[in-house]
Amino acid sequence: MADTKHTKVLIIGSGPAGYTAGVYASRAMLEPILVQGIEPGGQLTTTTEVENWPGDTEVQGPDLMVRMEAHAKAMGCEIIGDIITELDLAQRPFTATGDSGTIYTADAVILATGARAKWLGLPSEERFKGFGVSACATCDGFFYRGEEIVVIGGGNTAVEEALFLTKFASKVTLIHRRDELRAEKILQDRLFKNDKIETLWFHTLEEVIGTDTPLGVEAVRVRNVKTDEITEIPCKGVFVAIGHSPANELVKDTLELHMGGFVTTKPGTTETSVPGVFAAGDLTDHQYRQAVTSAGMGCMAALDAERFLSEHE
Ligand code: FAD
Ligand code: NAP
Repeated sequence: MADTKHTKVLIIGSGPAGYTAGVYASRAMLEPILVQGIEPGGQLTTTTEVENWPGDTEVQGPDLMVRMEAHAKAMGCEIIGDIITELDLAQRPFTATGDSGTIYTADAVILATGARAKWLGLPSEERFKGFGVSACATCDGFFYRGEEIVVIGGGNTAVEEALFLTKFASKVTLIHRRDELRAEKILQDRLFKNDKIETLWFHTLEEVIGTDTPLGVEAVRVRNVKTDEITEIPCKGVFVAIGHSPANELVKDTLELHMGGFVTTKPGTTETSVPGVFAAGDLTDHQYRQAVTSAGMGCMAALDAERFLSEHE
C-alpha cells in the first residue's frame, strides 16, 4: 500500500520561493510539507557568488540555500526529498504523487517548481551533452583547465558563466546573436575588462564539432547572422546560457499559462486559475526572475494560502 500523507499546505519546490513559503506557512501554524524535487535548493545551487541578496554583500549560492532550508525546517516545515510526478487538481483535497510512491493530499498547494536551462535544440548539442557541452559552469568548468571555451548567450547567466570560466580556461569566447548584452551593467563592465574574454557579436551556434572516440568537443561552427558567413572556433567546452523555461510539467494542462508556459496568477496575488492552488517564483515570472523576487512571491503564496484556508475551513 502506498504511504499517504495529508497536509494543509503542500509546497512543491525548494528554491527561494519554496523555502520562503515554508517559513511563512510554518509560522502561520499550517504545518506545511515541502517536497524538494530533483534539485534541492534550486537554481542558486548551480552558481557561486550571489551579490544581490539583501543583507549579504556576497554569499555563495549553495550556502544561501542551505541556510534557507535550515530556516524553513527550524520554523516547523517538514522537508521531504521526493519528486512530484503527478498532480491532480480536479478536486480538493488535491492529490500529488511522489516518485517515492508516497501520495500527498493537500487542502492547498503552493507551486514553486522554478525554471530549467534552455537548450538550442541542435543535434550536435545533444550528442556532446555531458561530453563538452554543458549548461552549468560551476558544475563542469573545472574540467576545462587550460582549455579554450565558448559561452553562448548575452544575459546575466552567460556573462557570469564566462567570468567564472576564466578561472580555468585559457580563453573564453562569448558568442551572442546581437551586439548588445542583456546582462546587468556591473557584469558587463567586468566582462569587458577581463583579458581572457573575447566577445563575438552577431553570431549564432550552428554546430558543435568533435570526435567519437573518445566523445569530445574540438570546435564550434558559428554563423554571422548579418553575412551568413560560417567560421570555426576551436574549443574544448561549450556552455549554453540562453535562458530558462518554466518547469510547468505538472500543471501545463490544468492551469492557465502565459508567455510560453509561465503559470498565470491574478495580478497582485499568487492565485492561479484553480482556487486553492498558488504559484510563486520563476514558474510564474517571465520578467524579474531573481532570488529575492522569488522569495517575495513565496511569502505572498503562503499568506494567500493561509487566507484561502481560513475562508474555506
Ligand atoms: P528554482 O530556484 O528554480 O527552484 C525550483 C525548485 O523546484 C527546485 O528545488 C526543484 O528541485 C523543484 N522542483 C521542480 N520540479 C519539481 C517536481 N516535479 N517536484 C518537486 N520539486 C520540483 N538570482 C539572483 O537574484 N541573484 C543571482 O546572483 C542569481 N544568479 C543566478 C545564477 C545562475 C547560474 C542561475 C541559473 C540563476 C541565477 N539567479 C540569480 C536566478 C535565481 O536563481 C532564480 O530566480 C531563483 O532561483 C528562482 O527561484 P524559484 O524558487 O522560483 O525556483
Ligand atoms: P535571459 O536573461 O533570458 O538571457 C538569455 C540570453 O540568451 C539573451 O541574451 C538571449 O538573446 C540569448 N538567447 C536566447 N535564445 C537564444 C537562441 N536560441 N540563440 C542564441 N541566443 C539566445 O536568461 P539568463 O541569462 O539565464 O537569466 C535568467 C534570469 O535569471 C534573468 O532574470 C536574470 O536576471 C536572472 N539571473 C540573475 C543573475 C544575477 O542577478 N547576478 C545571474 C543569473 C541570472 P537576446 O538578448 O538577443 O534575447
